[in-house]
Formats: sequence, C-alpha cells, structure tokens
Amino acid sequence: MAQKEDNLKDIISHAKEYGFVFPSSEIYDGLSATYDYGQLGSELKNNIKQYWWKSMVQMHENIVGIDAAIFMHPSVWKASGHVDAFNDPLIDNKDSKKRYRADVLIEDHIEKYRAKINKDVAKGLKRFGDDFNKEEFLKTNPNVLRNQAKIDEIEARMKETLTNEDLEGVYNLIMDLGIACPVSGSKNWTEVRQFNLMFSTELGSVSGESAKIYLRPETAQGIFVNFLNVQKSGRMKIPFGIAQIGKAFRNEIVARQFIFRMREFEQMEMQFFVRPGEEMKWYEYWKDQRINWHKKIGLGEENYRFHDHVKLAHYANAAADIEFNFPMGFKELEGIHSRTDFDLKQHQEHSGKKLQYFDPEINENYVPYVVETSIGLDRMFLAVLSSSYKTEQLENGSERSVLSLPAALAPYKVAVMPLTRKDGLPEKAREILASLKFDFNCQYDEKDSPGKRYRRQDAIGTPYCVMVDHQTLEDNTVTIRDRDTMLQERVSIQELNALIGEKVSMKNLLM
Ligand code: ATP
Repeated sequence: MAQKEDNLKDIISHAKEYGFVFPSSEIYDGLSATYDYGQLGSELKNNIKQYWWKSMVQMHENIVGIDAAIFMHPSVWKASGHVDAFNDPLIDNKDSKKRYRADVLIEDHIEKYRAKINKDVAKGLKRFGDDFNKEEFLKTNPNVLRNQAKIDEIEARMKETLTNEDLEGVYNLIMDLGIACPVSGSKNWTEVRQFNLMFSTELGSVSGESAKIYLRPETAQGIFVNFLNVQKSGRMKIPFGIAQIGKAFRNEIVARQFIFRMREFEQMEMQFFVRPGEEMKWYEYWKDQRINWHKKIGLGEENYRFHDHVKLAHYANAAADIEFNFPMGFKELEGIHSRTDFDLKQHQEHSGKKLQYFDPEINENYVPYVVETSIGLDRMFLAVLSSSYKTEQLENGSERSVLSLPAALAPYKVAVMPLTRKDGLPEKAREILASLKFDFNCQYDEKDSPGKRYRRQDAIGTPYCVMVDHQTLEDNTVTIRDRDTMLQERVSIQELNALIGEKVSMKNLLM
C-alpha cells in the first residue's frame, strides 16, 4: 500500500511537470480539492469524453445527448430529494482535528478484512498452484469464513444505521470496531453529524428579490426535467436514453487524494428510460455494457470489480459500483443505478406537469422507470493516468518515464522531429507535419538530442515519433518509432497517414 501511495505522489508530480493537472490558483497556494487541467490534461480529458460520447450516444440509435444548464430552478432539488437527503455523515477526531466521512471510515475498516481474505487466497494459490480451487477455498477455509462473517456483520450494522439515519448507531459502530484516526491513531471522536453536500448561491442582483439556488450536485436532474422535451422533439420511443457530460459540485467533507474526490468535477451520465417492470433487465444490461466499455480501453481486466451498494440512495432499488484499482486501492469509478420512477414522479408532483409516456405497443400511459450509468470523468482520467504511468530500466542502464496511454486517448498522436536543425531538415519536417495535422494532434520538436526528445515524448504518452534525416531528402522516407517497443522502422512519407491512423483510431476501442 505504502508503495502504491508513493506511486500516487509520483503521478501527481509527473502530471504537474508535464502540464496535465495543476493545483487550482496555485500562486495563491491553491484551493483545496480543486484542480486545473493543463495543456495536455485537457487533450486527454477531451479524448476520454469523446470515447464515452461516441460509444454511448453516437453508436446507439436510441440514445441522444444534451447539454443542460448548471443552474436550475430551486424546486428541482427539493423534488429530487437533495435538499433534504443529500447528506454525508461526518465525524471529527478531537486530537488530530481531522474530519472524516463516518461511512468511509467503516468501509476502510471492512477493507482490512477483505485484504486478509485476499492474503489467504494468495497463500493458498502459492501453496497449491494449479490445483488450487478458489471458489471452494472461499466457501470452506475457516479463516476466510471468520473474516467474511465479520464483514457481513459490520455491513449489516452499517446498512441499518445509515438507512435509519441513526447517527448515534453509526458512532457506536465506530467505537465498537475500535476504529482509530489514520493520522493520530486516536479514538477520541466527536459525535456523528449530517452534512449537506450542496453548494448554494443567490440568483438576482437586487437584495430581497434574490432566490437561493444550488450548483448542481449531479447532472442527472438536467436530463429528467428535459425528459418530455427530448422525447417529443426527438420522437423517441421507449426504451431510450438521454446522455450528458458536465460539471457537478459537491462540498465534500473530506477531499483528498488528488482528482479522485474534488469539490468541482465532471460527470458523464446517461439516463435510460424503460417500461416499468423491465428495469432489472436493463440494469443488468447496462452493468454488462459498461464493464465492457472499461475493459476495451486495456488498463487490465484485473483492475476492475463490481461492488453492490450496502446502503441504497433515496431514489434507487438496485445499485452497483464499478470499482477500479487506483493507487489508493479499489475505489468507485462508476455507478450503475436503477432509479425507479422516483425522479420523474417527484418532478411531476412538484411541477404539476405530467411527465408520462404513451406506449403504443401496450396502449398505456406510464411514468417510465430509469436505469442510470454515471461515471466521473476526473476519476476516469486518474484511472487512465495512474495505470499508464511507469518507470522502466533500459538495457543501457538508464531509466525512462513512460505513459503507455491507449493510443486513441493520447494527447499527441505523433511528434515530428528533424534529426538536426540544418540542411533543410526542419523545413522537410514541417512539411510532413503540415500534412499530418489535419488528421492528428501533432507536435513539432527540434530541441536537444534525439534521445532526449524521445524521452520527452515517452513521458507525455505520444505513441509515435517521426524522425526526418538526410536520407529523407533523398528518398522521402522517415523512421517511425513506437513508444512502447522503442523500435524504429523506415517507411515512406506517403504511408505515414494510413499507418498512424490505423493505430490511433478510436475505432480500435469501439469495436
Ligand atoms: P463516493 O461514494 O465516492 O462519494 P458517490 O457514490 O457519491 O461517490 P455518485 O453520486 O454515484 O458518487 O456519482 C457518480 C460518479 O461521479 C461517481 O462514480 C464518481 O466517479 C463521480 N464522483 C462523485 N463524487 C465525486 C467527486 N467528489 N470528485 C470526483 N468525482 C466524483
């Protein structure tokens, strides 16, 4: 774990050094849990957005995308339940003065038992090799059963206390488990309190006429309030989906761990409207679709797992997270929620407008049920960045930092370089660049030795470097170097476009 956390520190400094992510307002010492994406970070982020939008919206005939305003009528948040129920239980440690989410402290405690089980499994595997039957081991090993029983017991108590908003019960659970502050090691805790996560501000410039409004804590409500607009104007037939990418704001109690938990972040959400009674079928369908989307990126299938929610949100009848193996361990990356007809019904009631669909196939009017997929763009960014970042020992004894980003997501697809700054090589390189830049984001680099330039491109994840040398002037060929294998190949300039295009195409991820 310690090594993984060091890894996170390295990633944060690499991200800053190369222009991926900067702390917000850094010259004023930053603002907690807010970050700015730099020149390369915004390219990578845009490419992730494009991958999501292309696969979710443009490749589904029955899904369309919108871009709703961040500000919404205040009644939206009353109707959605966020004003009354969008709370997290917080607890302070009196000695370290550190604040925590009480449920996260308990989750982290449970994780220790999970780690014990995984350790026993690893031991068994080592001892019995191919003869090891993991399923059987999990069902019969006494240590595993004891640890699993402990997990089940804690989860059951956590679910009961959180669902009943029994804050004293949550406090008692923390005390009974002997959970200590990770910073001070002290068990001197305050009581548990509820904390609403929504930011509010005032709309209107004349005092007395202003209304309290909220910065949206999720993008989903912008979709619900536009359900009929889109359905009617787009002549959509159920089942259909509405997607959107946009900013969301939460006044998180504890906002550490880089861009994993921010107070201003971006979500990519899709609400899929279905016939009542069919929601579980679609819930399973979307769980399957989404995990496949992740696996196709190639960050390693072993880095994903599903985690069913212990406590369901006020709107859900089933919910699962896709967790990713971040540098801090397995944590939520995406949520898939069966939201029932809760939101549309609530908006129908609070607005007095009918939000129903006439289903010609069964000749019935109904309020559709909804299955949601919701992924944090910044968390996806961190997943991509952290699993791509490596330092490698090279044969000649030197070291290189490389971002082995999926080529389709890399900020620059190709760097074009003249071997030297004389003999017309820069002019030739710029000519090649001019022909490639219609199709690819390219960089021109002529400073320093070729080795140094290759290292620089490796560090920002550029999949290809094209080197222009004296032979190029004679026969119109260049060398093209592959970031991952570091091998160079001589090809004709004419072939470049097709060769690079085939390797970096988003099609490779979408097929
Ligand atoms: P968590 O349990 O980590 O607080 P959540 O269950 O509240 O997350 P959801 O409400 O399901 O999160 O939001 C959907 C997605 O939005 C999450 O899976 C996550 O990727 C992203 N997300 C939520 N909160 C944040 C945040 N503070 N910073 C960055 N991304 C976030």
